[in-house]
Parts: sequence; C-alpha cells; structure tokens
Amino acid sequence: MSVHAKRTAFQGASRPPREPLSGAGDLVSATEVAYPAPHHYHEGVGAPELESALAERPDEASLAVKVRLPFCRHACRFCASQCVPSHDSRQAEPYLSRLDREMVLARRRLSGLPPVSRLHWGGGTPAFLALDQMSDLFDRLDARLGLSAARDRDFSIELDPREADMLTLRHLQALGFNRLSLGVQELDSRVQQAINRIQPRALTEALVDEADRLGFRELTLSLMLGLPFQTPQGLADTLEQVLGMAPARIRLHRYDHRPERHLAQRAIHRDWLPDAATRRRLLTEARAHLDAAGYVHIGLGLFARRDDRLAQARASGNLGHGPLGFTQGPAGDLLGLGMGAHSRIGELWVRNADTLAGYEGALDASRLPTACGIRLTPDQQHHQATLEALLCSRSIDPATLSTGADLEALCTEGLVDLAGGRMALTAEGHWQLPRILETLAPPPGP
Ligand code: SF4
Repeated sequence: MSVHAKRTAFQGASRPPREPLSGAGDLVSATEVAYPAPHHYHEGVGAPELESALAERPDEASLAVKVRLPFCRHACRFCASQCVPSHDSRQAEPYLSRLDREMVLARRRLSGLPPVSRLHWGGGTPAFLALDQMSDLFDRLDARLGLSAARDRDFSIELDPREADMLTLRHLQALGFNRLSLGVQELDSRVQQAINRIQPRALTEALVDEADRLGFRELTLSLMLGLPFQTPQGLADTLEQVLGMAPARIRLHRYDHRPERHLAQRAIHRDWLPDAATRRRLLTEARAHLDAAGYVHIGLGLFARRDDRLAQARASGNLGHGPLGFTQGPAGDLLGLGMGAHSRIGELWVRNADTLAGYEGALDASRLPTACGIRLTPDQQHHQATLEALLCSRSIDPATLSTGADLEALCTEGLVDLAGGRMALTAEGHWQLPRILETLAPPPGP
C-alpha cells in the first residue's frame, strides 16, 4: 500500500545544518525537535503579544515556570549556552531584582493562577547564587506567582557538582526542591582537562549519596558524547561508575562543535574530536550499556530506570512532552523568566532578550523583555501536536499528518512500521528522529 500524507503547508527553509554524532542513529535535543524551530521566531512578536496571551489564559489553567540563572564561575570549553562569567555571587543582585520585576509584570496580566506545581531553575549555574539569594528568589517566586506546597509538586534544579555541597542540597530541600539534575559529562581525566571541567568522581558521588539520603527523587545525571579525546573504553568506564551511583535517570547529550557560534569552543581543536566511526561507537555502545543495565529509553537521549515515573508513564501511555521535557501527563504552558528564557503560552511561543543589556534594559523601562517569537497557525499547532504524540506514544495515525511525506521511504529505511493503519517508530527510528521529522515536518517559510 502506498502511504503518502497530504501536503498542505510547511514547505520552506530547512533547519540549520548540524554535524551528526553518528550516521547510524543520533542524539537529538529538544530544540531540534521543537516545531516550529526557534530560528523561525521573529521580532514581529514581542511583549504586547505575550501580555495578551497571559491575559487571555483561563484562570484555572496551570502554568509551569522556568527561571534562567545565567551566571557561571567556570568556563567549560564545550559550552553552547549564553552564560555570564562571574566570580562573585553578589554580582547577581541586579539580575535578581530584574527577575522580580519580570514576575511582577507577568503576574499583572494574569487574572488568576493556580499554585505553580512545576518549577525549574536552569543555568548557567543556579548554584552560583549564595544560599540567601536562593531563599530570596524562592520567596519572591512564591509571593508573586504562588508556589504549590503539594507533595506531588515538581520543583527541579540543575546543579554543577563543583558549585554545590551538602549544605546546598539541604538548603534546596528546605526550600522545597525535590528533583536534581547533575552535570557529569565525562569522568575520564584527559577529557575533563580538554573541556576545562575538572570534576572528580568523588565530588559527584558524595552529592548523589546525600541527595538520596535527603529524599530527592528522580535524580538525573547528564553525560556528553563526542567530547575531545573521548574513547569508547573511557565512556564505558564512566558509564560503569555512573551506573554504580544508581541514578533514576541518565541523559545523554551530544557535543556539537560549532566554534564559529560558541566562543568557548574555540579552545577545542577539531583534531582532538573523535572521528565519525568513533562517535558512532560511542553512541551505539552507550545505548547497549544502558539497555543491559535495565534503563528504558524515554526519548531524546533520556533513559530511566523501569521503576521511574517517566518509564511507567511511557508504559501506560501517559507520557507528555513540552518545553520542560518529558512529563507524566500533559505538559501545559510555560512561563520562562530570565535572560534568553523561552515561554509557551497557548499558540504563542516567545524568547526573552538573550543579552544581559537587552534583558535588563527592557525591565528597567518596565517592559517584559520579550525579544522575538512566533504565533502558531492552526496548521502548525496541529502538526506540533502530532509530532509530540509521535515522540511520546511512538505511534500515530498517518492520516493526522498534514504533509506530503513519503512514509514508504521511511519504512524502507527501517525507521517506521506501517501496519494496521498506524505509523509506529521502530527502535532504530527513535534514534533517527531528525531524519524522520525532516520528512514529516518541513519547517514553515519565513
Ligand atoms: S556548561 Fe554549564 S557550567 Fe559550564 S560554562 Fe556552560 S553553563 Fe556554565
């Protein structure tokens, strides 16, 4: 049977090219599967549109909140984030005042809001803040937006083990955080030196043990593949040590070498990087290693133990995905606060100014710091929902696709199965999402 979905929209410019980790499957980031992709945002959508979208939300609809804290004491050479180097946490004070201003301006537009039950602090390095600054920020979030005290709230934070100790963990727990994500990247010392991130195993292990004792749940450890001097044997050793810490979740990221875009990466020589065949082995063997250890691939390089909530949500068909990643149940809207933060309110997707001057300047002029965005058309909303469904359930009705994708070609390549009127991702297809999404969802024109 020939299966071709109807092509209606979505022809146009392609996504920016990237260097694949391997030709036999790849790690793909949430940004890469976002539809429409952030590079389609434009300045015609800004603060007035966000204000209207906030004002029009139903009072009873939940809202997740993500706070971006861009400061970093150390400069990792692999970094692709827009971060603000600093050695003194007092330098974050003006930024924290602007965050408060942003909360006030956003809250003014919301006529009602249930207690926020999904909160995430991301970096930079959130633990760059001193403990009293963390308390103050948490109090301001509670005062301005109202934070949930329910036991099932999901309050998570990214931690750099070099910036956190036992006191930090106890303080975060006392504030109400219950989930941690620790960056490990690689434990091999030669790789650590090349990326300028010296992080002995004992440092991470001590934090993991303490987090466990304090009752933090669903600890995530993040590793990066494709780093300079990384070898399959070195990565296997790292994985063994990480598995020994028994985290609930392990996330694999891909190192994307783009020195023309990311200044920090200019200190990494291209000939330090593993070649294509080695990158292929790194991913293939890491997948096999995690599979053998009993971890389930949730998607986008995130693995979870079988007893983890996300693994259970996947098994029961209750997995959601949104701007904060995979969730148990539907993801809902997100309000992003801080420099470069993204928000998604209904069909409106926006990004804040991604320089400190732009962010602070807008707030000093009493404007929300929205720099650009996009309002999704009904067609785009439909397609985005279809892609999220494919990501979460791995199977969709091909009739819901609104492109003229050649599904038979994907089937011939072994990436999807077409049987019983469904299009299902194969195990390999899940690792070839960029290839599949490119076929299913050519990005919209400008
Ligand atoms: S990787 Fe993280 S800690 Fe390192 S420079 Fe980038 S944002 Fe900062």
